[in-house]
Amino acid sequence: MRLATITNWAYGATLLLTFASGATMLLASNVQDGERAAVAQRELLDQASAKIATEVTSLSDKAREYVITGDPVHLDIYQRDVTALRSVEERVRKIEDLGASPDEVNALTDAMRLADALQDEQQDAVKIRQQGDADRARSILFGIEYDRQLDRVAADVERFQYRLDQRTDSEVAAAVNVSKLWKTFSEVVLGVTGLLFLCVLYFVFKRRVLRPVVKLSDVVNRLAAQDYAVEPPDYGEIDEIGDMAQAIRVFRENGLERQRLEEERNADFAKRALLSRMTQRMQECETMAQLERVIGGFVPEIAPGLAGRLYLLDESRNLLVEACSWLGAVRSPREFPPIACWALQRGELHRPKGCAADVVCDHLGDEQPIDSICLPLNAQRTTVGLLYLEPRSDLCQPDPNVPEIYLKILAENVGLAVGNLRLRDRLRAMAMLDPLTGLANRRQLETVLESRLLEANRANQPISCIMLDVDHFKRFNDDYGHDAGDVVLRAVGDLLKRSTRDTDAFRYGGEEFLLLMPDMGAEHALLRAEETRCKIKDLQVEHGGRELGTITASLGTATAPDHCMFSQLVRTADAALLRAKESGRNCVVQAEQRGIAPEEAAQTSRSVSADSE
Ligand code: GH3
Ligand code: MG
Ligand code: MG
Repeated sequence: MRLATITNWAYGATLLLTFASGATMLLASNVQDGERAAVAQRELLDQASAKIATEVTSLSDKAREYVITGDPVHLDIYQRDVTALRSVEERVRKIEDLGASPDEVNALTDAMRLADALQDEQQDAVKIRQQGDADRARSILFGIEYDRQLDRVAADVERFQYRLDQRTDSEVAAAVNVSKLWKTFSEVVLGVTGLLFLCVLYFVFKRRVLRPVVKLSDVVNRLAAQDYAVEPPDYGEIDEIGDMAQAIRVFRENGLERQRLEEERNADFAKRALLSRMTQRMQECETMAQLERVIGGFVPEIAPGLAGRLYLLDESRNLLVEACSWLGAVRSPREFPPIACWALQRGELHRPKGCAADVVCDHLGDEQPIDSICLPLNAQRTTVGLLYLEPRSDLCQPDPNVPEIYLKILAENVGLAVGNLRLRDRLRAMAMLDPLTGLANRRQLETVLESRLLEANRANQPISCIMLDVDHFKRFNDDYGHDAGDVVLRAVGDLLKRSTRDTDAFRYGGEEFLLLMPDMGAEHALLRAEETRCKIKDLQVEHGGRELGTITASLGTATAPDHCMFSQLVRTADAALLRAKESGRNCVVQAEQRGIAPEEAAQTSRSVSADSE
C-alpha cells in the first residue's frame, strides 16, 4: 500500500476518533447535567414535601393555640392560613410538575388527604371552642387519635422524601456511572487518537525522513569515497528529501562524467606516451631491420585489438612489400601494387567499414569485407609504404576501437621514421660514393678496409691491394681543360668498375684509385694490376670532339700477410706505387717481401715497364 494512502487513512481515522472523543465528552457532560438536574429536582421536591409537613404542623399549632386561649387573634391567624392553603389537587399538581413519580405522588397525596382530614378536625374543634366548649375542643386537638394522625402525616411525608431520596440517589448513581463510562470511553478514544497520531508521525518520520536520510547519507559517503557505482535512491516526492536525492543524483552523474573524462585522459596520456616512446625508439634505429622490430613490438601495444602489416614501397618493382607483421594479419597479401590500395591513391586513411560505407581495397580480395584500416606512410611528400590493420581473428570479441587519431599519429611517425632511415641510407651512400666516377670513395674505403682486413686476418687468407695513379694527369687538365680531366677520370673509373667485379674499387683521391682484393694472392694481384694497366693504356677518350691521347697509369701492389702486416697493406701498396713512379711510370711494381733485406728485396721485386712489354 502506498505511503500516501496509509497516511490518508491514518489522518481519517485520527479525525474520526477525535470527533468520537469530543462526542463522548459531550455525552459525559450531558449525563452530568442530568445528574445535577436530578439533585436539583430532589431539593425542590424535598422543599415542597417539607412544606406540606410544616404547613400541617403550623396549622395544627395555631388551631391548638386558639383552642387553648380562645383568643380571636389566634383564630384570625388560623383562618388566614387556612384560606392561604391551596387545595390538595393544586399541591399534587405542583408536586407532579416538579417531576415526582406517580408512586411518590400517591404517597404524598395520602399525607395531604390526611392533613385535610386533620384540618377538618381543627375546623370542628374551632367551631366547638367558638361555641364555648373548650374542653371538648381541646380533647379533639390534643387527643391521641389527633396526634397519631399528625404523626402519620409526618411519616407519610418522610416516606415520600425517603422514596424521593432513593430514586434520586439511584438516578444520580446511574448518571454518575454513565458519565464515568463516557468519560472513560472518551479518555480511551483520546488515548487511541494520540497513539495513532504518534504512530503515524513515527511511521511518516521513519519512512519519509529517517530512512531516506540514512540512505542518502550512505550514498553521500560512498560518493565522497569516489565510489560512483552506488545508485542514489529515486524519491519522487516534491520535498526537501526529494530535492536532496535529486541533487545527489546530479552530483553522482557529474562525478561519473568527471571519472570518465579522467579515465579517457589517462588512457590518452598512456597512448600518447607509448606513441612518443615508439617515435623515440624509431628515431634511434640505424637499420630498417631495427625499425621493423620497433614497429612490430609497439603497434600491438597501441592497438591490441588489431593485427597488421607494415609494407614498404619497393620503387624499383613498384610494389608494396611486407616488411613485418604482427598478431596474425591474414587478409592482405605480402606484396601488391600501390594501385590496389585506396589509401595510397587517396593519400589518407581508408576504412571501408568505418562510419560510412566505402569501397574495399583490391589487395583485400573478394572475401567478406572486414573492418580493415589502411594508412599511407608518407615522408618528404612521397609515399614510402603502407600500414595495414585488421581486426584480430583470434579474439572472440574483436576490439578494433582504437581512436583513428592515434592510428593517424602512428602512421605519420612510422612514415617519417621510414623516410628518415631511407634518407639517411641515401645520404650515407652519397657520402660514401665519389660523384664523378661512381666508385666508392676514401671514406667508404676506411669502413670497408677495416672489416676486410679483420676477416682476412681471422680466416688466415691473403688480401691484396693495388694503388693506381694516372700518369701526368695534370697535363690533361692543362692541355684540354678541367672537364677533359674529369672525362679521363670517369673513363678510368668505368674501366675499374667493369673489370674488377670481384674486387672493391675506390677513388682514393685526385687521380689515384685503389683496388682491394680479398682472398687474392700476390701473384694473382700482380697479374690483375698488369692487366689493368694495359686496359688503361688502351683507353681511347675524347672530349669536345678531340682525342685526348694515350692515358697511362702507374700501379703498386701489395699482399698481406706476404708483403706486410694486414694493417700496413695500403701504405705498402702506396710505397710500391711510388716506386713505380720512380721507375718511369706506366708500370706495375709489387711490394717487397716481408723480412727480406732491402737489397734482396730490390732484386726480388719485379717491375714491368712499358718498354719491356
Ligand atoms: P704524376 O705522373 O707524377 O702523378 O703527375 P701528375 O700530373 O699526374 O700528378 P700531380 O700531383 O702533379 O697532379 C695531379 C693533378 O690532378 C692536380 C689536380 O689539379 C688534378 N686533379 C685532382 N683531382 C681532379 C679532378 O677531380 N678533376 C680534374 N680535372 N683534375 C683533378
Ligand atoms: Mg697523384
Ligand atoms: Mg698522377
